Amino acid sequence: MTSKTQSDVLIIGGGIGGLVLALSLHQKGIPCRIYESVREIRAVGAGINLLPHAVRELDDLGLLSALTNVGIQTQDASYFNQYGQHIYTEPAGIAAGYKWPQISIHRGDLHEVLLHAVRERLGAEVVKTGHHCVGVEQTEDSVTANFVDANGAALPSATGAVAVGCDGIHSALRKQFYPNEGGPVYAGLTIWRGVTPYKPFLSGANTIRVGWMPVGKIMVYPIRNNIDDKGNQLMNWVATLERPRPKSYDWNKPAKHEDFFDAYKDWHFGWIDIPDLLMKTETPLVFPMVDRDPVPTWTFGRATLLGDAAHPMYPRGSNGAGQAILDGRFLTDRLVEMGTTPAALQAYDKVRVEATAKVVLTNRKNPPDAILREVYERTSGNPFKRINDVISAEEMAQMSEGYKKIAGFHQRQLAI
Ligand SMILES: Cc1cc2nc3c(=O)[nH]c(=O)nc-3n(C[C@H](O)[C@H](O)[C@H](O)COP(=O)(O)OP(=O)(O)OC[C@H]3O[C@@H](n4cnc5c(N)ncnc54)[C@H](O)[C@@H]3O)c2cc1C
Repeated sequence: MTSKTQSDVLIIGGGIGGLVLALSLHQKGIPCRIYESVREIRAVGAGINLLPHAVRELDDLGLLSALTNVGIQTQDASYFNQYGQHIYTEPAGIAAGYKWPQISIHRGDLHEVLLHAVRERLGAEVVKTGHHCVGVEQTEDSVTANFVDANGAALPSATGAVAVGCDGIHSALRKQFYPNEGGPVYAGLTIWRGVTPYKPFLSGANTIRVGWMPVGKIMVYPIRNNIDDKGNQLMNWVATLERPRPKSYDWNKPAKHEDFFDAYKDWHFGWIDIPDLLMKTETPLVFPMVDRDPVPTWTFGRATLLGDAAHPMYPRGSNGAGQAILDGRFLTDRLVEMGTTPAALQAYDKVRVEATAKVVLTNRKNPPDAILREVYERTSGNPFKRINDVISAEEMAQMSEGYKKIAGFHQRQLAI
């Protein structure tokens, strides 16, 4: 049995990208349906940073206050070496003069805000959970997506005008289009992450990056305010170490403290106690740092890709969710201009494939934390007397500005 509404956009995957696409399409009066693999959508994951370019789009969807109600408006970003010596601080979001804030938020909170908006605006029935897509078939004027349930039993197919694979890093649609691609590319780095109640540090709305890979790198930022009567925040941390590739890759894989703790055991900085923060975290999670090589096209007739399915990237520039959001907005505009046609998908592809490939490649070589690499290499991993003798503030500002331009959130780009 096939469910047919041939003018609809079929959205495969109800993660961050799929839900934003649905809200964008709805805003412009284009009907859509979302098919999500998991039976029950739960608030999972850890922290995500939404930079001003992504927040601008979410504001246009009327979601800004819902997001700032749950997340934290980041004020500044700071860099330290593994001895806790201060390297560089720059303002972020509104504090840096942007019209939109940077928001540090739990992925589950972001997902919940988006899902609530989708169900309220489009109707609860638009999100079909328990539908794992196994591929698409096409005719000249329609596309049909095929599904199985959690036990592998076939479900009714769905037919629409176009299908968008928003099905994440293990995308079934991408596998159909690129059957010989193989798995994600491992960076030689493993990432542990976690959230725990913790007292505010520095401005109380700061993102810190500390250390460098050979000795251990960690990023810490708060993602919820006032979570208890002690004034604690929900603190998010992401620790990275050089390691052989872990056996499996699952966003929700629990880890043991002993696998990563040693590298950070002496990082007591007074203003924050990293070993204490790590040990207070009940269930750390682990996943390998992976991406995929950019591909020349995401579009095959009436089907295309979006977000991590299209351009998974190292989580080093706070752009994974942001670029998925930008994809959804850009694609919507093309579908409005050109109808739900292959030509609209091609127009989307023409711009977004190239733009996101640059971010993927820059995240490999020169993400924002390359500032830490420079200091580590120039000091051979030793403490410094004066940071100005190692690297100038101008050079670090230039590195940071360069990344913003590539990822599309330089202030001049957002002033348009
Ligand atoms: C469970 C989970 C936890 C995460 N935690 C973090 C985190 O803590 N920090 C971080 O920076 N990023 C995290 N991410 C990744 C982050 O959400 C993405 O990098 C980014 O937001 C881009 O979003 P996306 O919609 O492209 O992909 P995702 O947000 O990964 O969404 C993909 C969606 O597609 C669904 N799906 C997969 N295969 C199929 C299929 N065949 N048919 C139908 N549906 C399918 C998945 O269940 C998921 O809901 C997580 C992703 C997931 C799925």
